[in-house]
Amino acid sequence: MAKRDNTLKLKFDSARKFAPAPESRSAAKIKPKYDLFINGKFEKPLSKKYFDSTNPATGEKLSEVADSSAADVDKAVKAARNAFNSWSKLPAAERGKYIFRIARMVQERARELAIVETLDGGKPIRESRDFDVPTAANHFFYYAGWADKLEYAFPNRTAKPLGVAGQIIPWNFPLLMAAWKIAPALATGNTVVLKPAETTPLTAMLLAEIILEADLPPGVVNIITGAGSTGAAIVNHPDVNKIAFTGSTDVGKIIEKAIAGTDKKATLELGGKAANIIFEDAPLDQAVEGIVNGIFFNQGHVCCAGSRLYVQESVLESVLRKLKDRIETLIVGDPLDKNTDVGAINSKQQYDQIMKYIKIGINEGSDMFQSSCTLPSKGLYIPPTIFSNVAQSSRIAQEEIFGPVLTIQSFRTDDEVIEKANNTPYGLSAGVWTDKGSKIFNLTTKLRAGVVWANTFNKFDPTSPFGGYKESGYGREGGLHGLAPYLNLV
Ligand code: NAP
Ligand code: MG
Repeated sequence: MAKRDNTLKLKFDSARKFAPAPESRSAAKIKPKYDLFINGKFEKPLSKKYFDSTNPATGEKLSEVADSSAADVDKAVKAARNAFNSWSKLPAAERGKYIFRIARMVQERARELAIVETLDGGKPIRESRDFDVPTAANHFFYYAGWADKLEYAFPNRTAKPLGVAGQIIPWNFPLLMAAWKIAPALATGNTVVLKPAETTPLTAMLLAEIILEADLPPGVVNIITGAGSTGAAIVNHPDVNKIAFTGSTDVGKIIEKAIAGTDKKATLELGGKAANIIFEDAPLDQAVEGIVNGIFFNQGHVCCAGSRLYVQESVLESVLRKLKDRIETLIVGDPLDKNTDVGAINSKQQYDQIMKYIKIGINEGSDMFQSSCTLPSKGLYIPPTIFSNVAQSSRIAQEEIFGPVLTIQSFRTDDEVIEKANNTPYGLSAGVWTDKGSKIFNLTTKLRAGVVWANTFNKFDPTSPFGGYKESGYGREGGLHGLAPYLNLV
């Protein structure tokens, strides 16, 4: 095990210090090419292939990343397997220190990470800077603290790590999803092979640099880039013990089939179609602000986005008017500008998907309202869009759009809205806006969703478990519950 001075100089506020907008690309020193991070080294892919990572706001190429073949996956899994024996036997407090060090280094490189996240994925710099990066650091801090306290988490039980965790993440919160995956795996003594999404691999490669600099023993974390076939090779590798996946319900189902009959364990965080419910007694201005944040945050590329709004009939007109007025004030544009509220759509494929659903909504007969903002002349942008007069059975109310598109329906009674809110294949999250505690209690017990927010939305904290009901997946990430899926509890 590498020797290192574990004394850490505390500097907790570095994630909050930033230069004025617009952020400059040159502040992020993106390398022209990234190799695979395997066994504590950056290695050229056996496939010899690379693909481009681009900026969806401009179409410009940012870098090249390696395209891992099954042989590259095998190499990474072997490295993780070799590292498992000593990593899992390391005193738990030592594991905690390594994770703590990663957290600190994420903070130290916060500005750069935020800029790269925004360049690679298209999200507003304000979000990368104030949400993605600090929340990722917090996740590492939180699980660093758990490493030597597992016996308190699971009293009277022996908590043994599973082995090699294969982790596959999406493009909507690339660094944060990497933190959600890696931190609990390491705290519990597992080793990791992680694959970021094809369109947003760069912050994962920066995290690989951090892990190298943090002196983690070689092979404990391996980060490999590639497309869906690389993900499939991880899932199908016989020496992987656990799959942690966040992405679409379609791919989640493919993974479930692939591991059926094997001894692999899985955690699946899949799609969503969250109901956000406004009662007539709610503070309407606050609720409208929460609705806007719930659907337009990260261009709506959020699995728990509040994409279905239900408004009690008596306040429908008032809420609609306030919503339209508010949407007109949103700034859509350059993701690097700190005033931007809605950035670029992550990829051409996702852009086409959202535009397809907007056409479907129009053809289904719903009323569309779009912000009249001026969009940048190049890049992938869609103005904030709301549909009213939406039927519960319509496709735009049932299917995940994963973009800045909100559907609006009205309701009269609690029972009616509970029935409508629960009436999709998904069950990831929901929101309730009301002045009455009794309504909050009634709805949180009856809504079939893994997370129900009351008078707020899209609030995350490492201490809170997150995960789905129904086709939104199973297993929990975050909090104490996020540790158990990485352990054999005997
Ligand atoms: P996805 O296709 O499920 O991709 C998620 C991750 O899985 C990516 O790293 C992807 O690699 C990889 N992957 C693709 N096919 C695979 C396979 N057969 N086996 C193993 N891994 C595989 O989702 P997406 O393309 O990013 O987005 C499509 C839809 O998924 C969205 O429209 C939305 O509905 C949903 N989504 C949900 C979440 C969530 O947080 N719940 C996040 C993102 C997307 P590539 O990147 O190379 O394809
Ligand atoms: Mg990109």
